Amino acid sequence: MIKIYEKNSYENHLATKVMASKKEEGKNLIQLQESIFFPEEGGQYADSGIIIYGNKELKLLDGQIKKGEIWYSVEEEIPEGSDVICRLDWPIRYSRMQQHSGEHILTGVIHNRYGYDNIGFHLSDDSAVTLVMNGDLTREEVLDMERVANDVIYRNLPIVDSYPSKEELEHINYRSKKEIEGQVRLITVGYGDDVVDICACCAPHVAHTGEIGLIKVVSVAAYKGGTQIGILCGKRALDYIRNEHEMIDKLARSFSTSIDKIPDSVESMREEIASLRETTFNLIDEKMKRIISELKEGKNACLFIDEDASPAIMKNCYNAMCEKYEGKVAVFAGKDGKGYRYYAGSRSEDSRLTGNILKEKLGAKGGGNEEMVQGRVDAAKSDIEKLFE
Ligand SMILES: [Zn+2]
Repeated sequence: MIKIYEKNSYENHLATKVMASKKEEGKNLIQLQESIFFPEEGGQYADSGIIIYGNKELKLLDGQIKKGEIWYSVEEEIPEGSDVICRLDWPIRYSRMQQHSGEHILTGVIHNRYGYDNIGFHLSDDSAVTLVMNGDLTREEVLDMERVANDVIYRNLPIVDSYPSKEELEHINYRSKKEIEGQVRLITVGYGDDVVDICACCAPHVAHTGEIGLIKVVSVAAYKGGTQIGILCGKRALDYIRNEHEMIDKLARSFSTSIDKIPDSVESMREEIASLRETTFNLIDEKMKRIISELKEGKNACLFIDEDASPAIMKNCYNAMCEKYEGKVAVFAGKDGKGYRYYAGSRSEDSRLTGNILKEKLGAKGGGNEEMVQGRVDAAKSDIEKLFE
């Protein structure tokens, strides 16, 4: 089969012949004399499109390489020898060409600077395109490479394919993921003294780097001793940035400020929240201490406070209770039916004794040390109160 998509990635219409046809596992499979449809290979999905047979427009469902042969899966059976017209789903293909060429450029500039290789490439249509570089890179380093890669776009360098002989290949310094048997296809970005990257590749590419428009790094993460980088190119990169800009703009409007003043607004809001938290804490703390001072005298006692009380408030109440009562004390925050969080113990004996009583009598769960125990209990307030009479 003649792979038109290798020599001319822009061909999106083609009249050709069905060379073989078979049914396998419920699929209608065909082979074509020549094809504009790229099959799934090297981390990139098969092209989508339409095959016109007679007066039928049949959907191309898949393209897979089996034992070196390319079989296309079509909606309906098309007999061997039929004349067909192939029509490529061009917007998706062109976007994939932009993503793939962009990946070559970014990987190429990282390879040139750091010597790392891309050992895991996946061209997804609905999430970021991912590459895995086999070396450590910080976010800053990757963003610096993003800048270099975009410079390659603005220089609008040619991207060309070539099919060198084995002897010629020995003198070419190119990137390759695996040993390739048979004819090697090289994709070269740039020319003359300005060659940015040469890589063995089977996929369709754009003709000039300018067509990629933009490369945007959207994620950087450590991955199995290397670095996984998520990128978007072309219109997908623009859409991503537009979405982010919309979010930032919305944020600025909610602060009634301009975009550049958002960090200041967030910082002053943070300070205000911290100060309000402190004031609220002090008010609640004072109120709880007053309540505790007004509780009736005795040996043991327990206190029920607001179910949303923070652990810090609960601990302060527990300490205040310990100062007032020498026996077993506890502080509960919760509700009948929903259960209670508790801090409990005693100043005159090991606090774990109080914890054990809560566990044995009410099935409480929790733990702690000599000073204090804490946990949860699902019991009624009236039953809890009986333990501290
Ligand atoms: Zn490639």
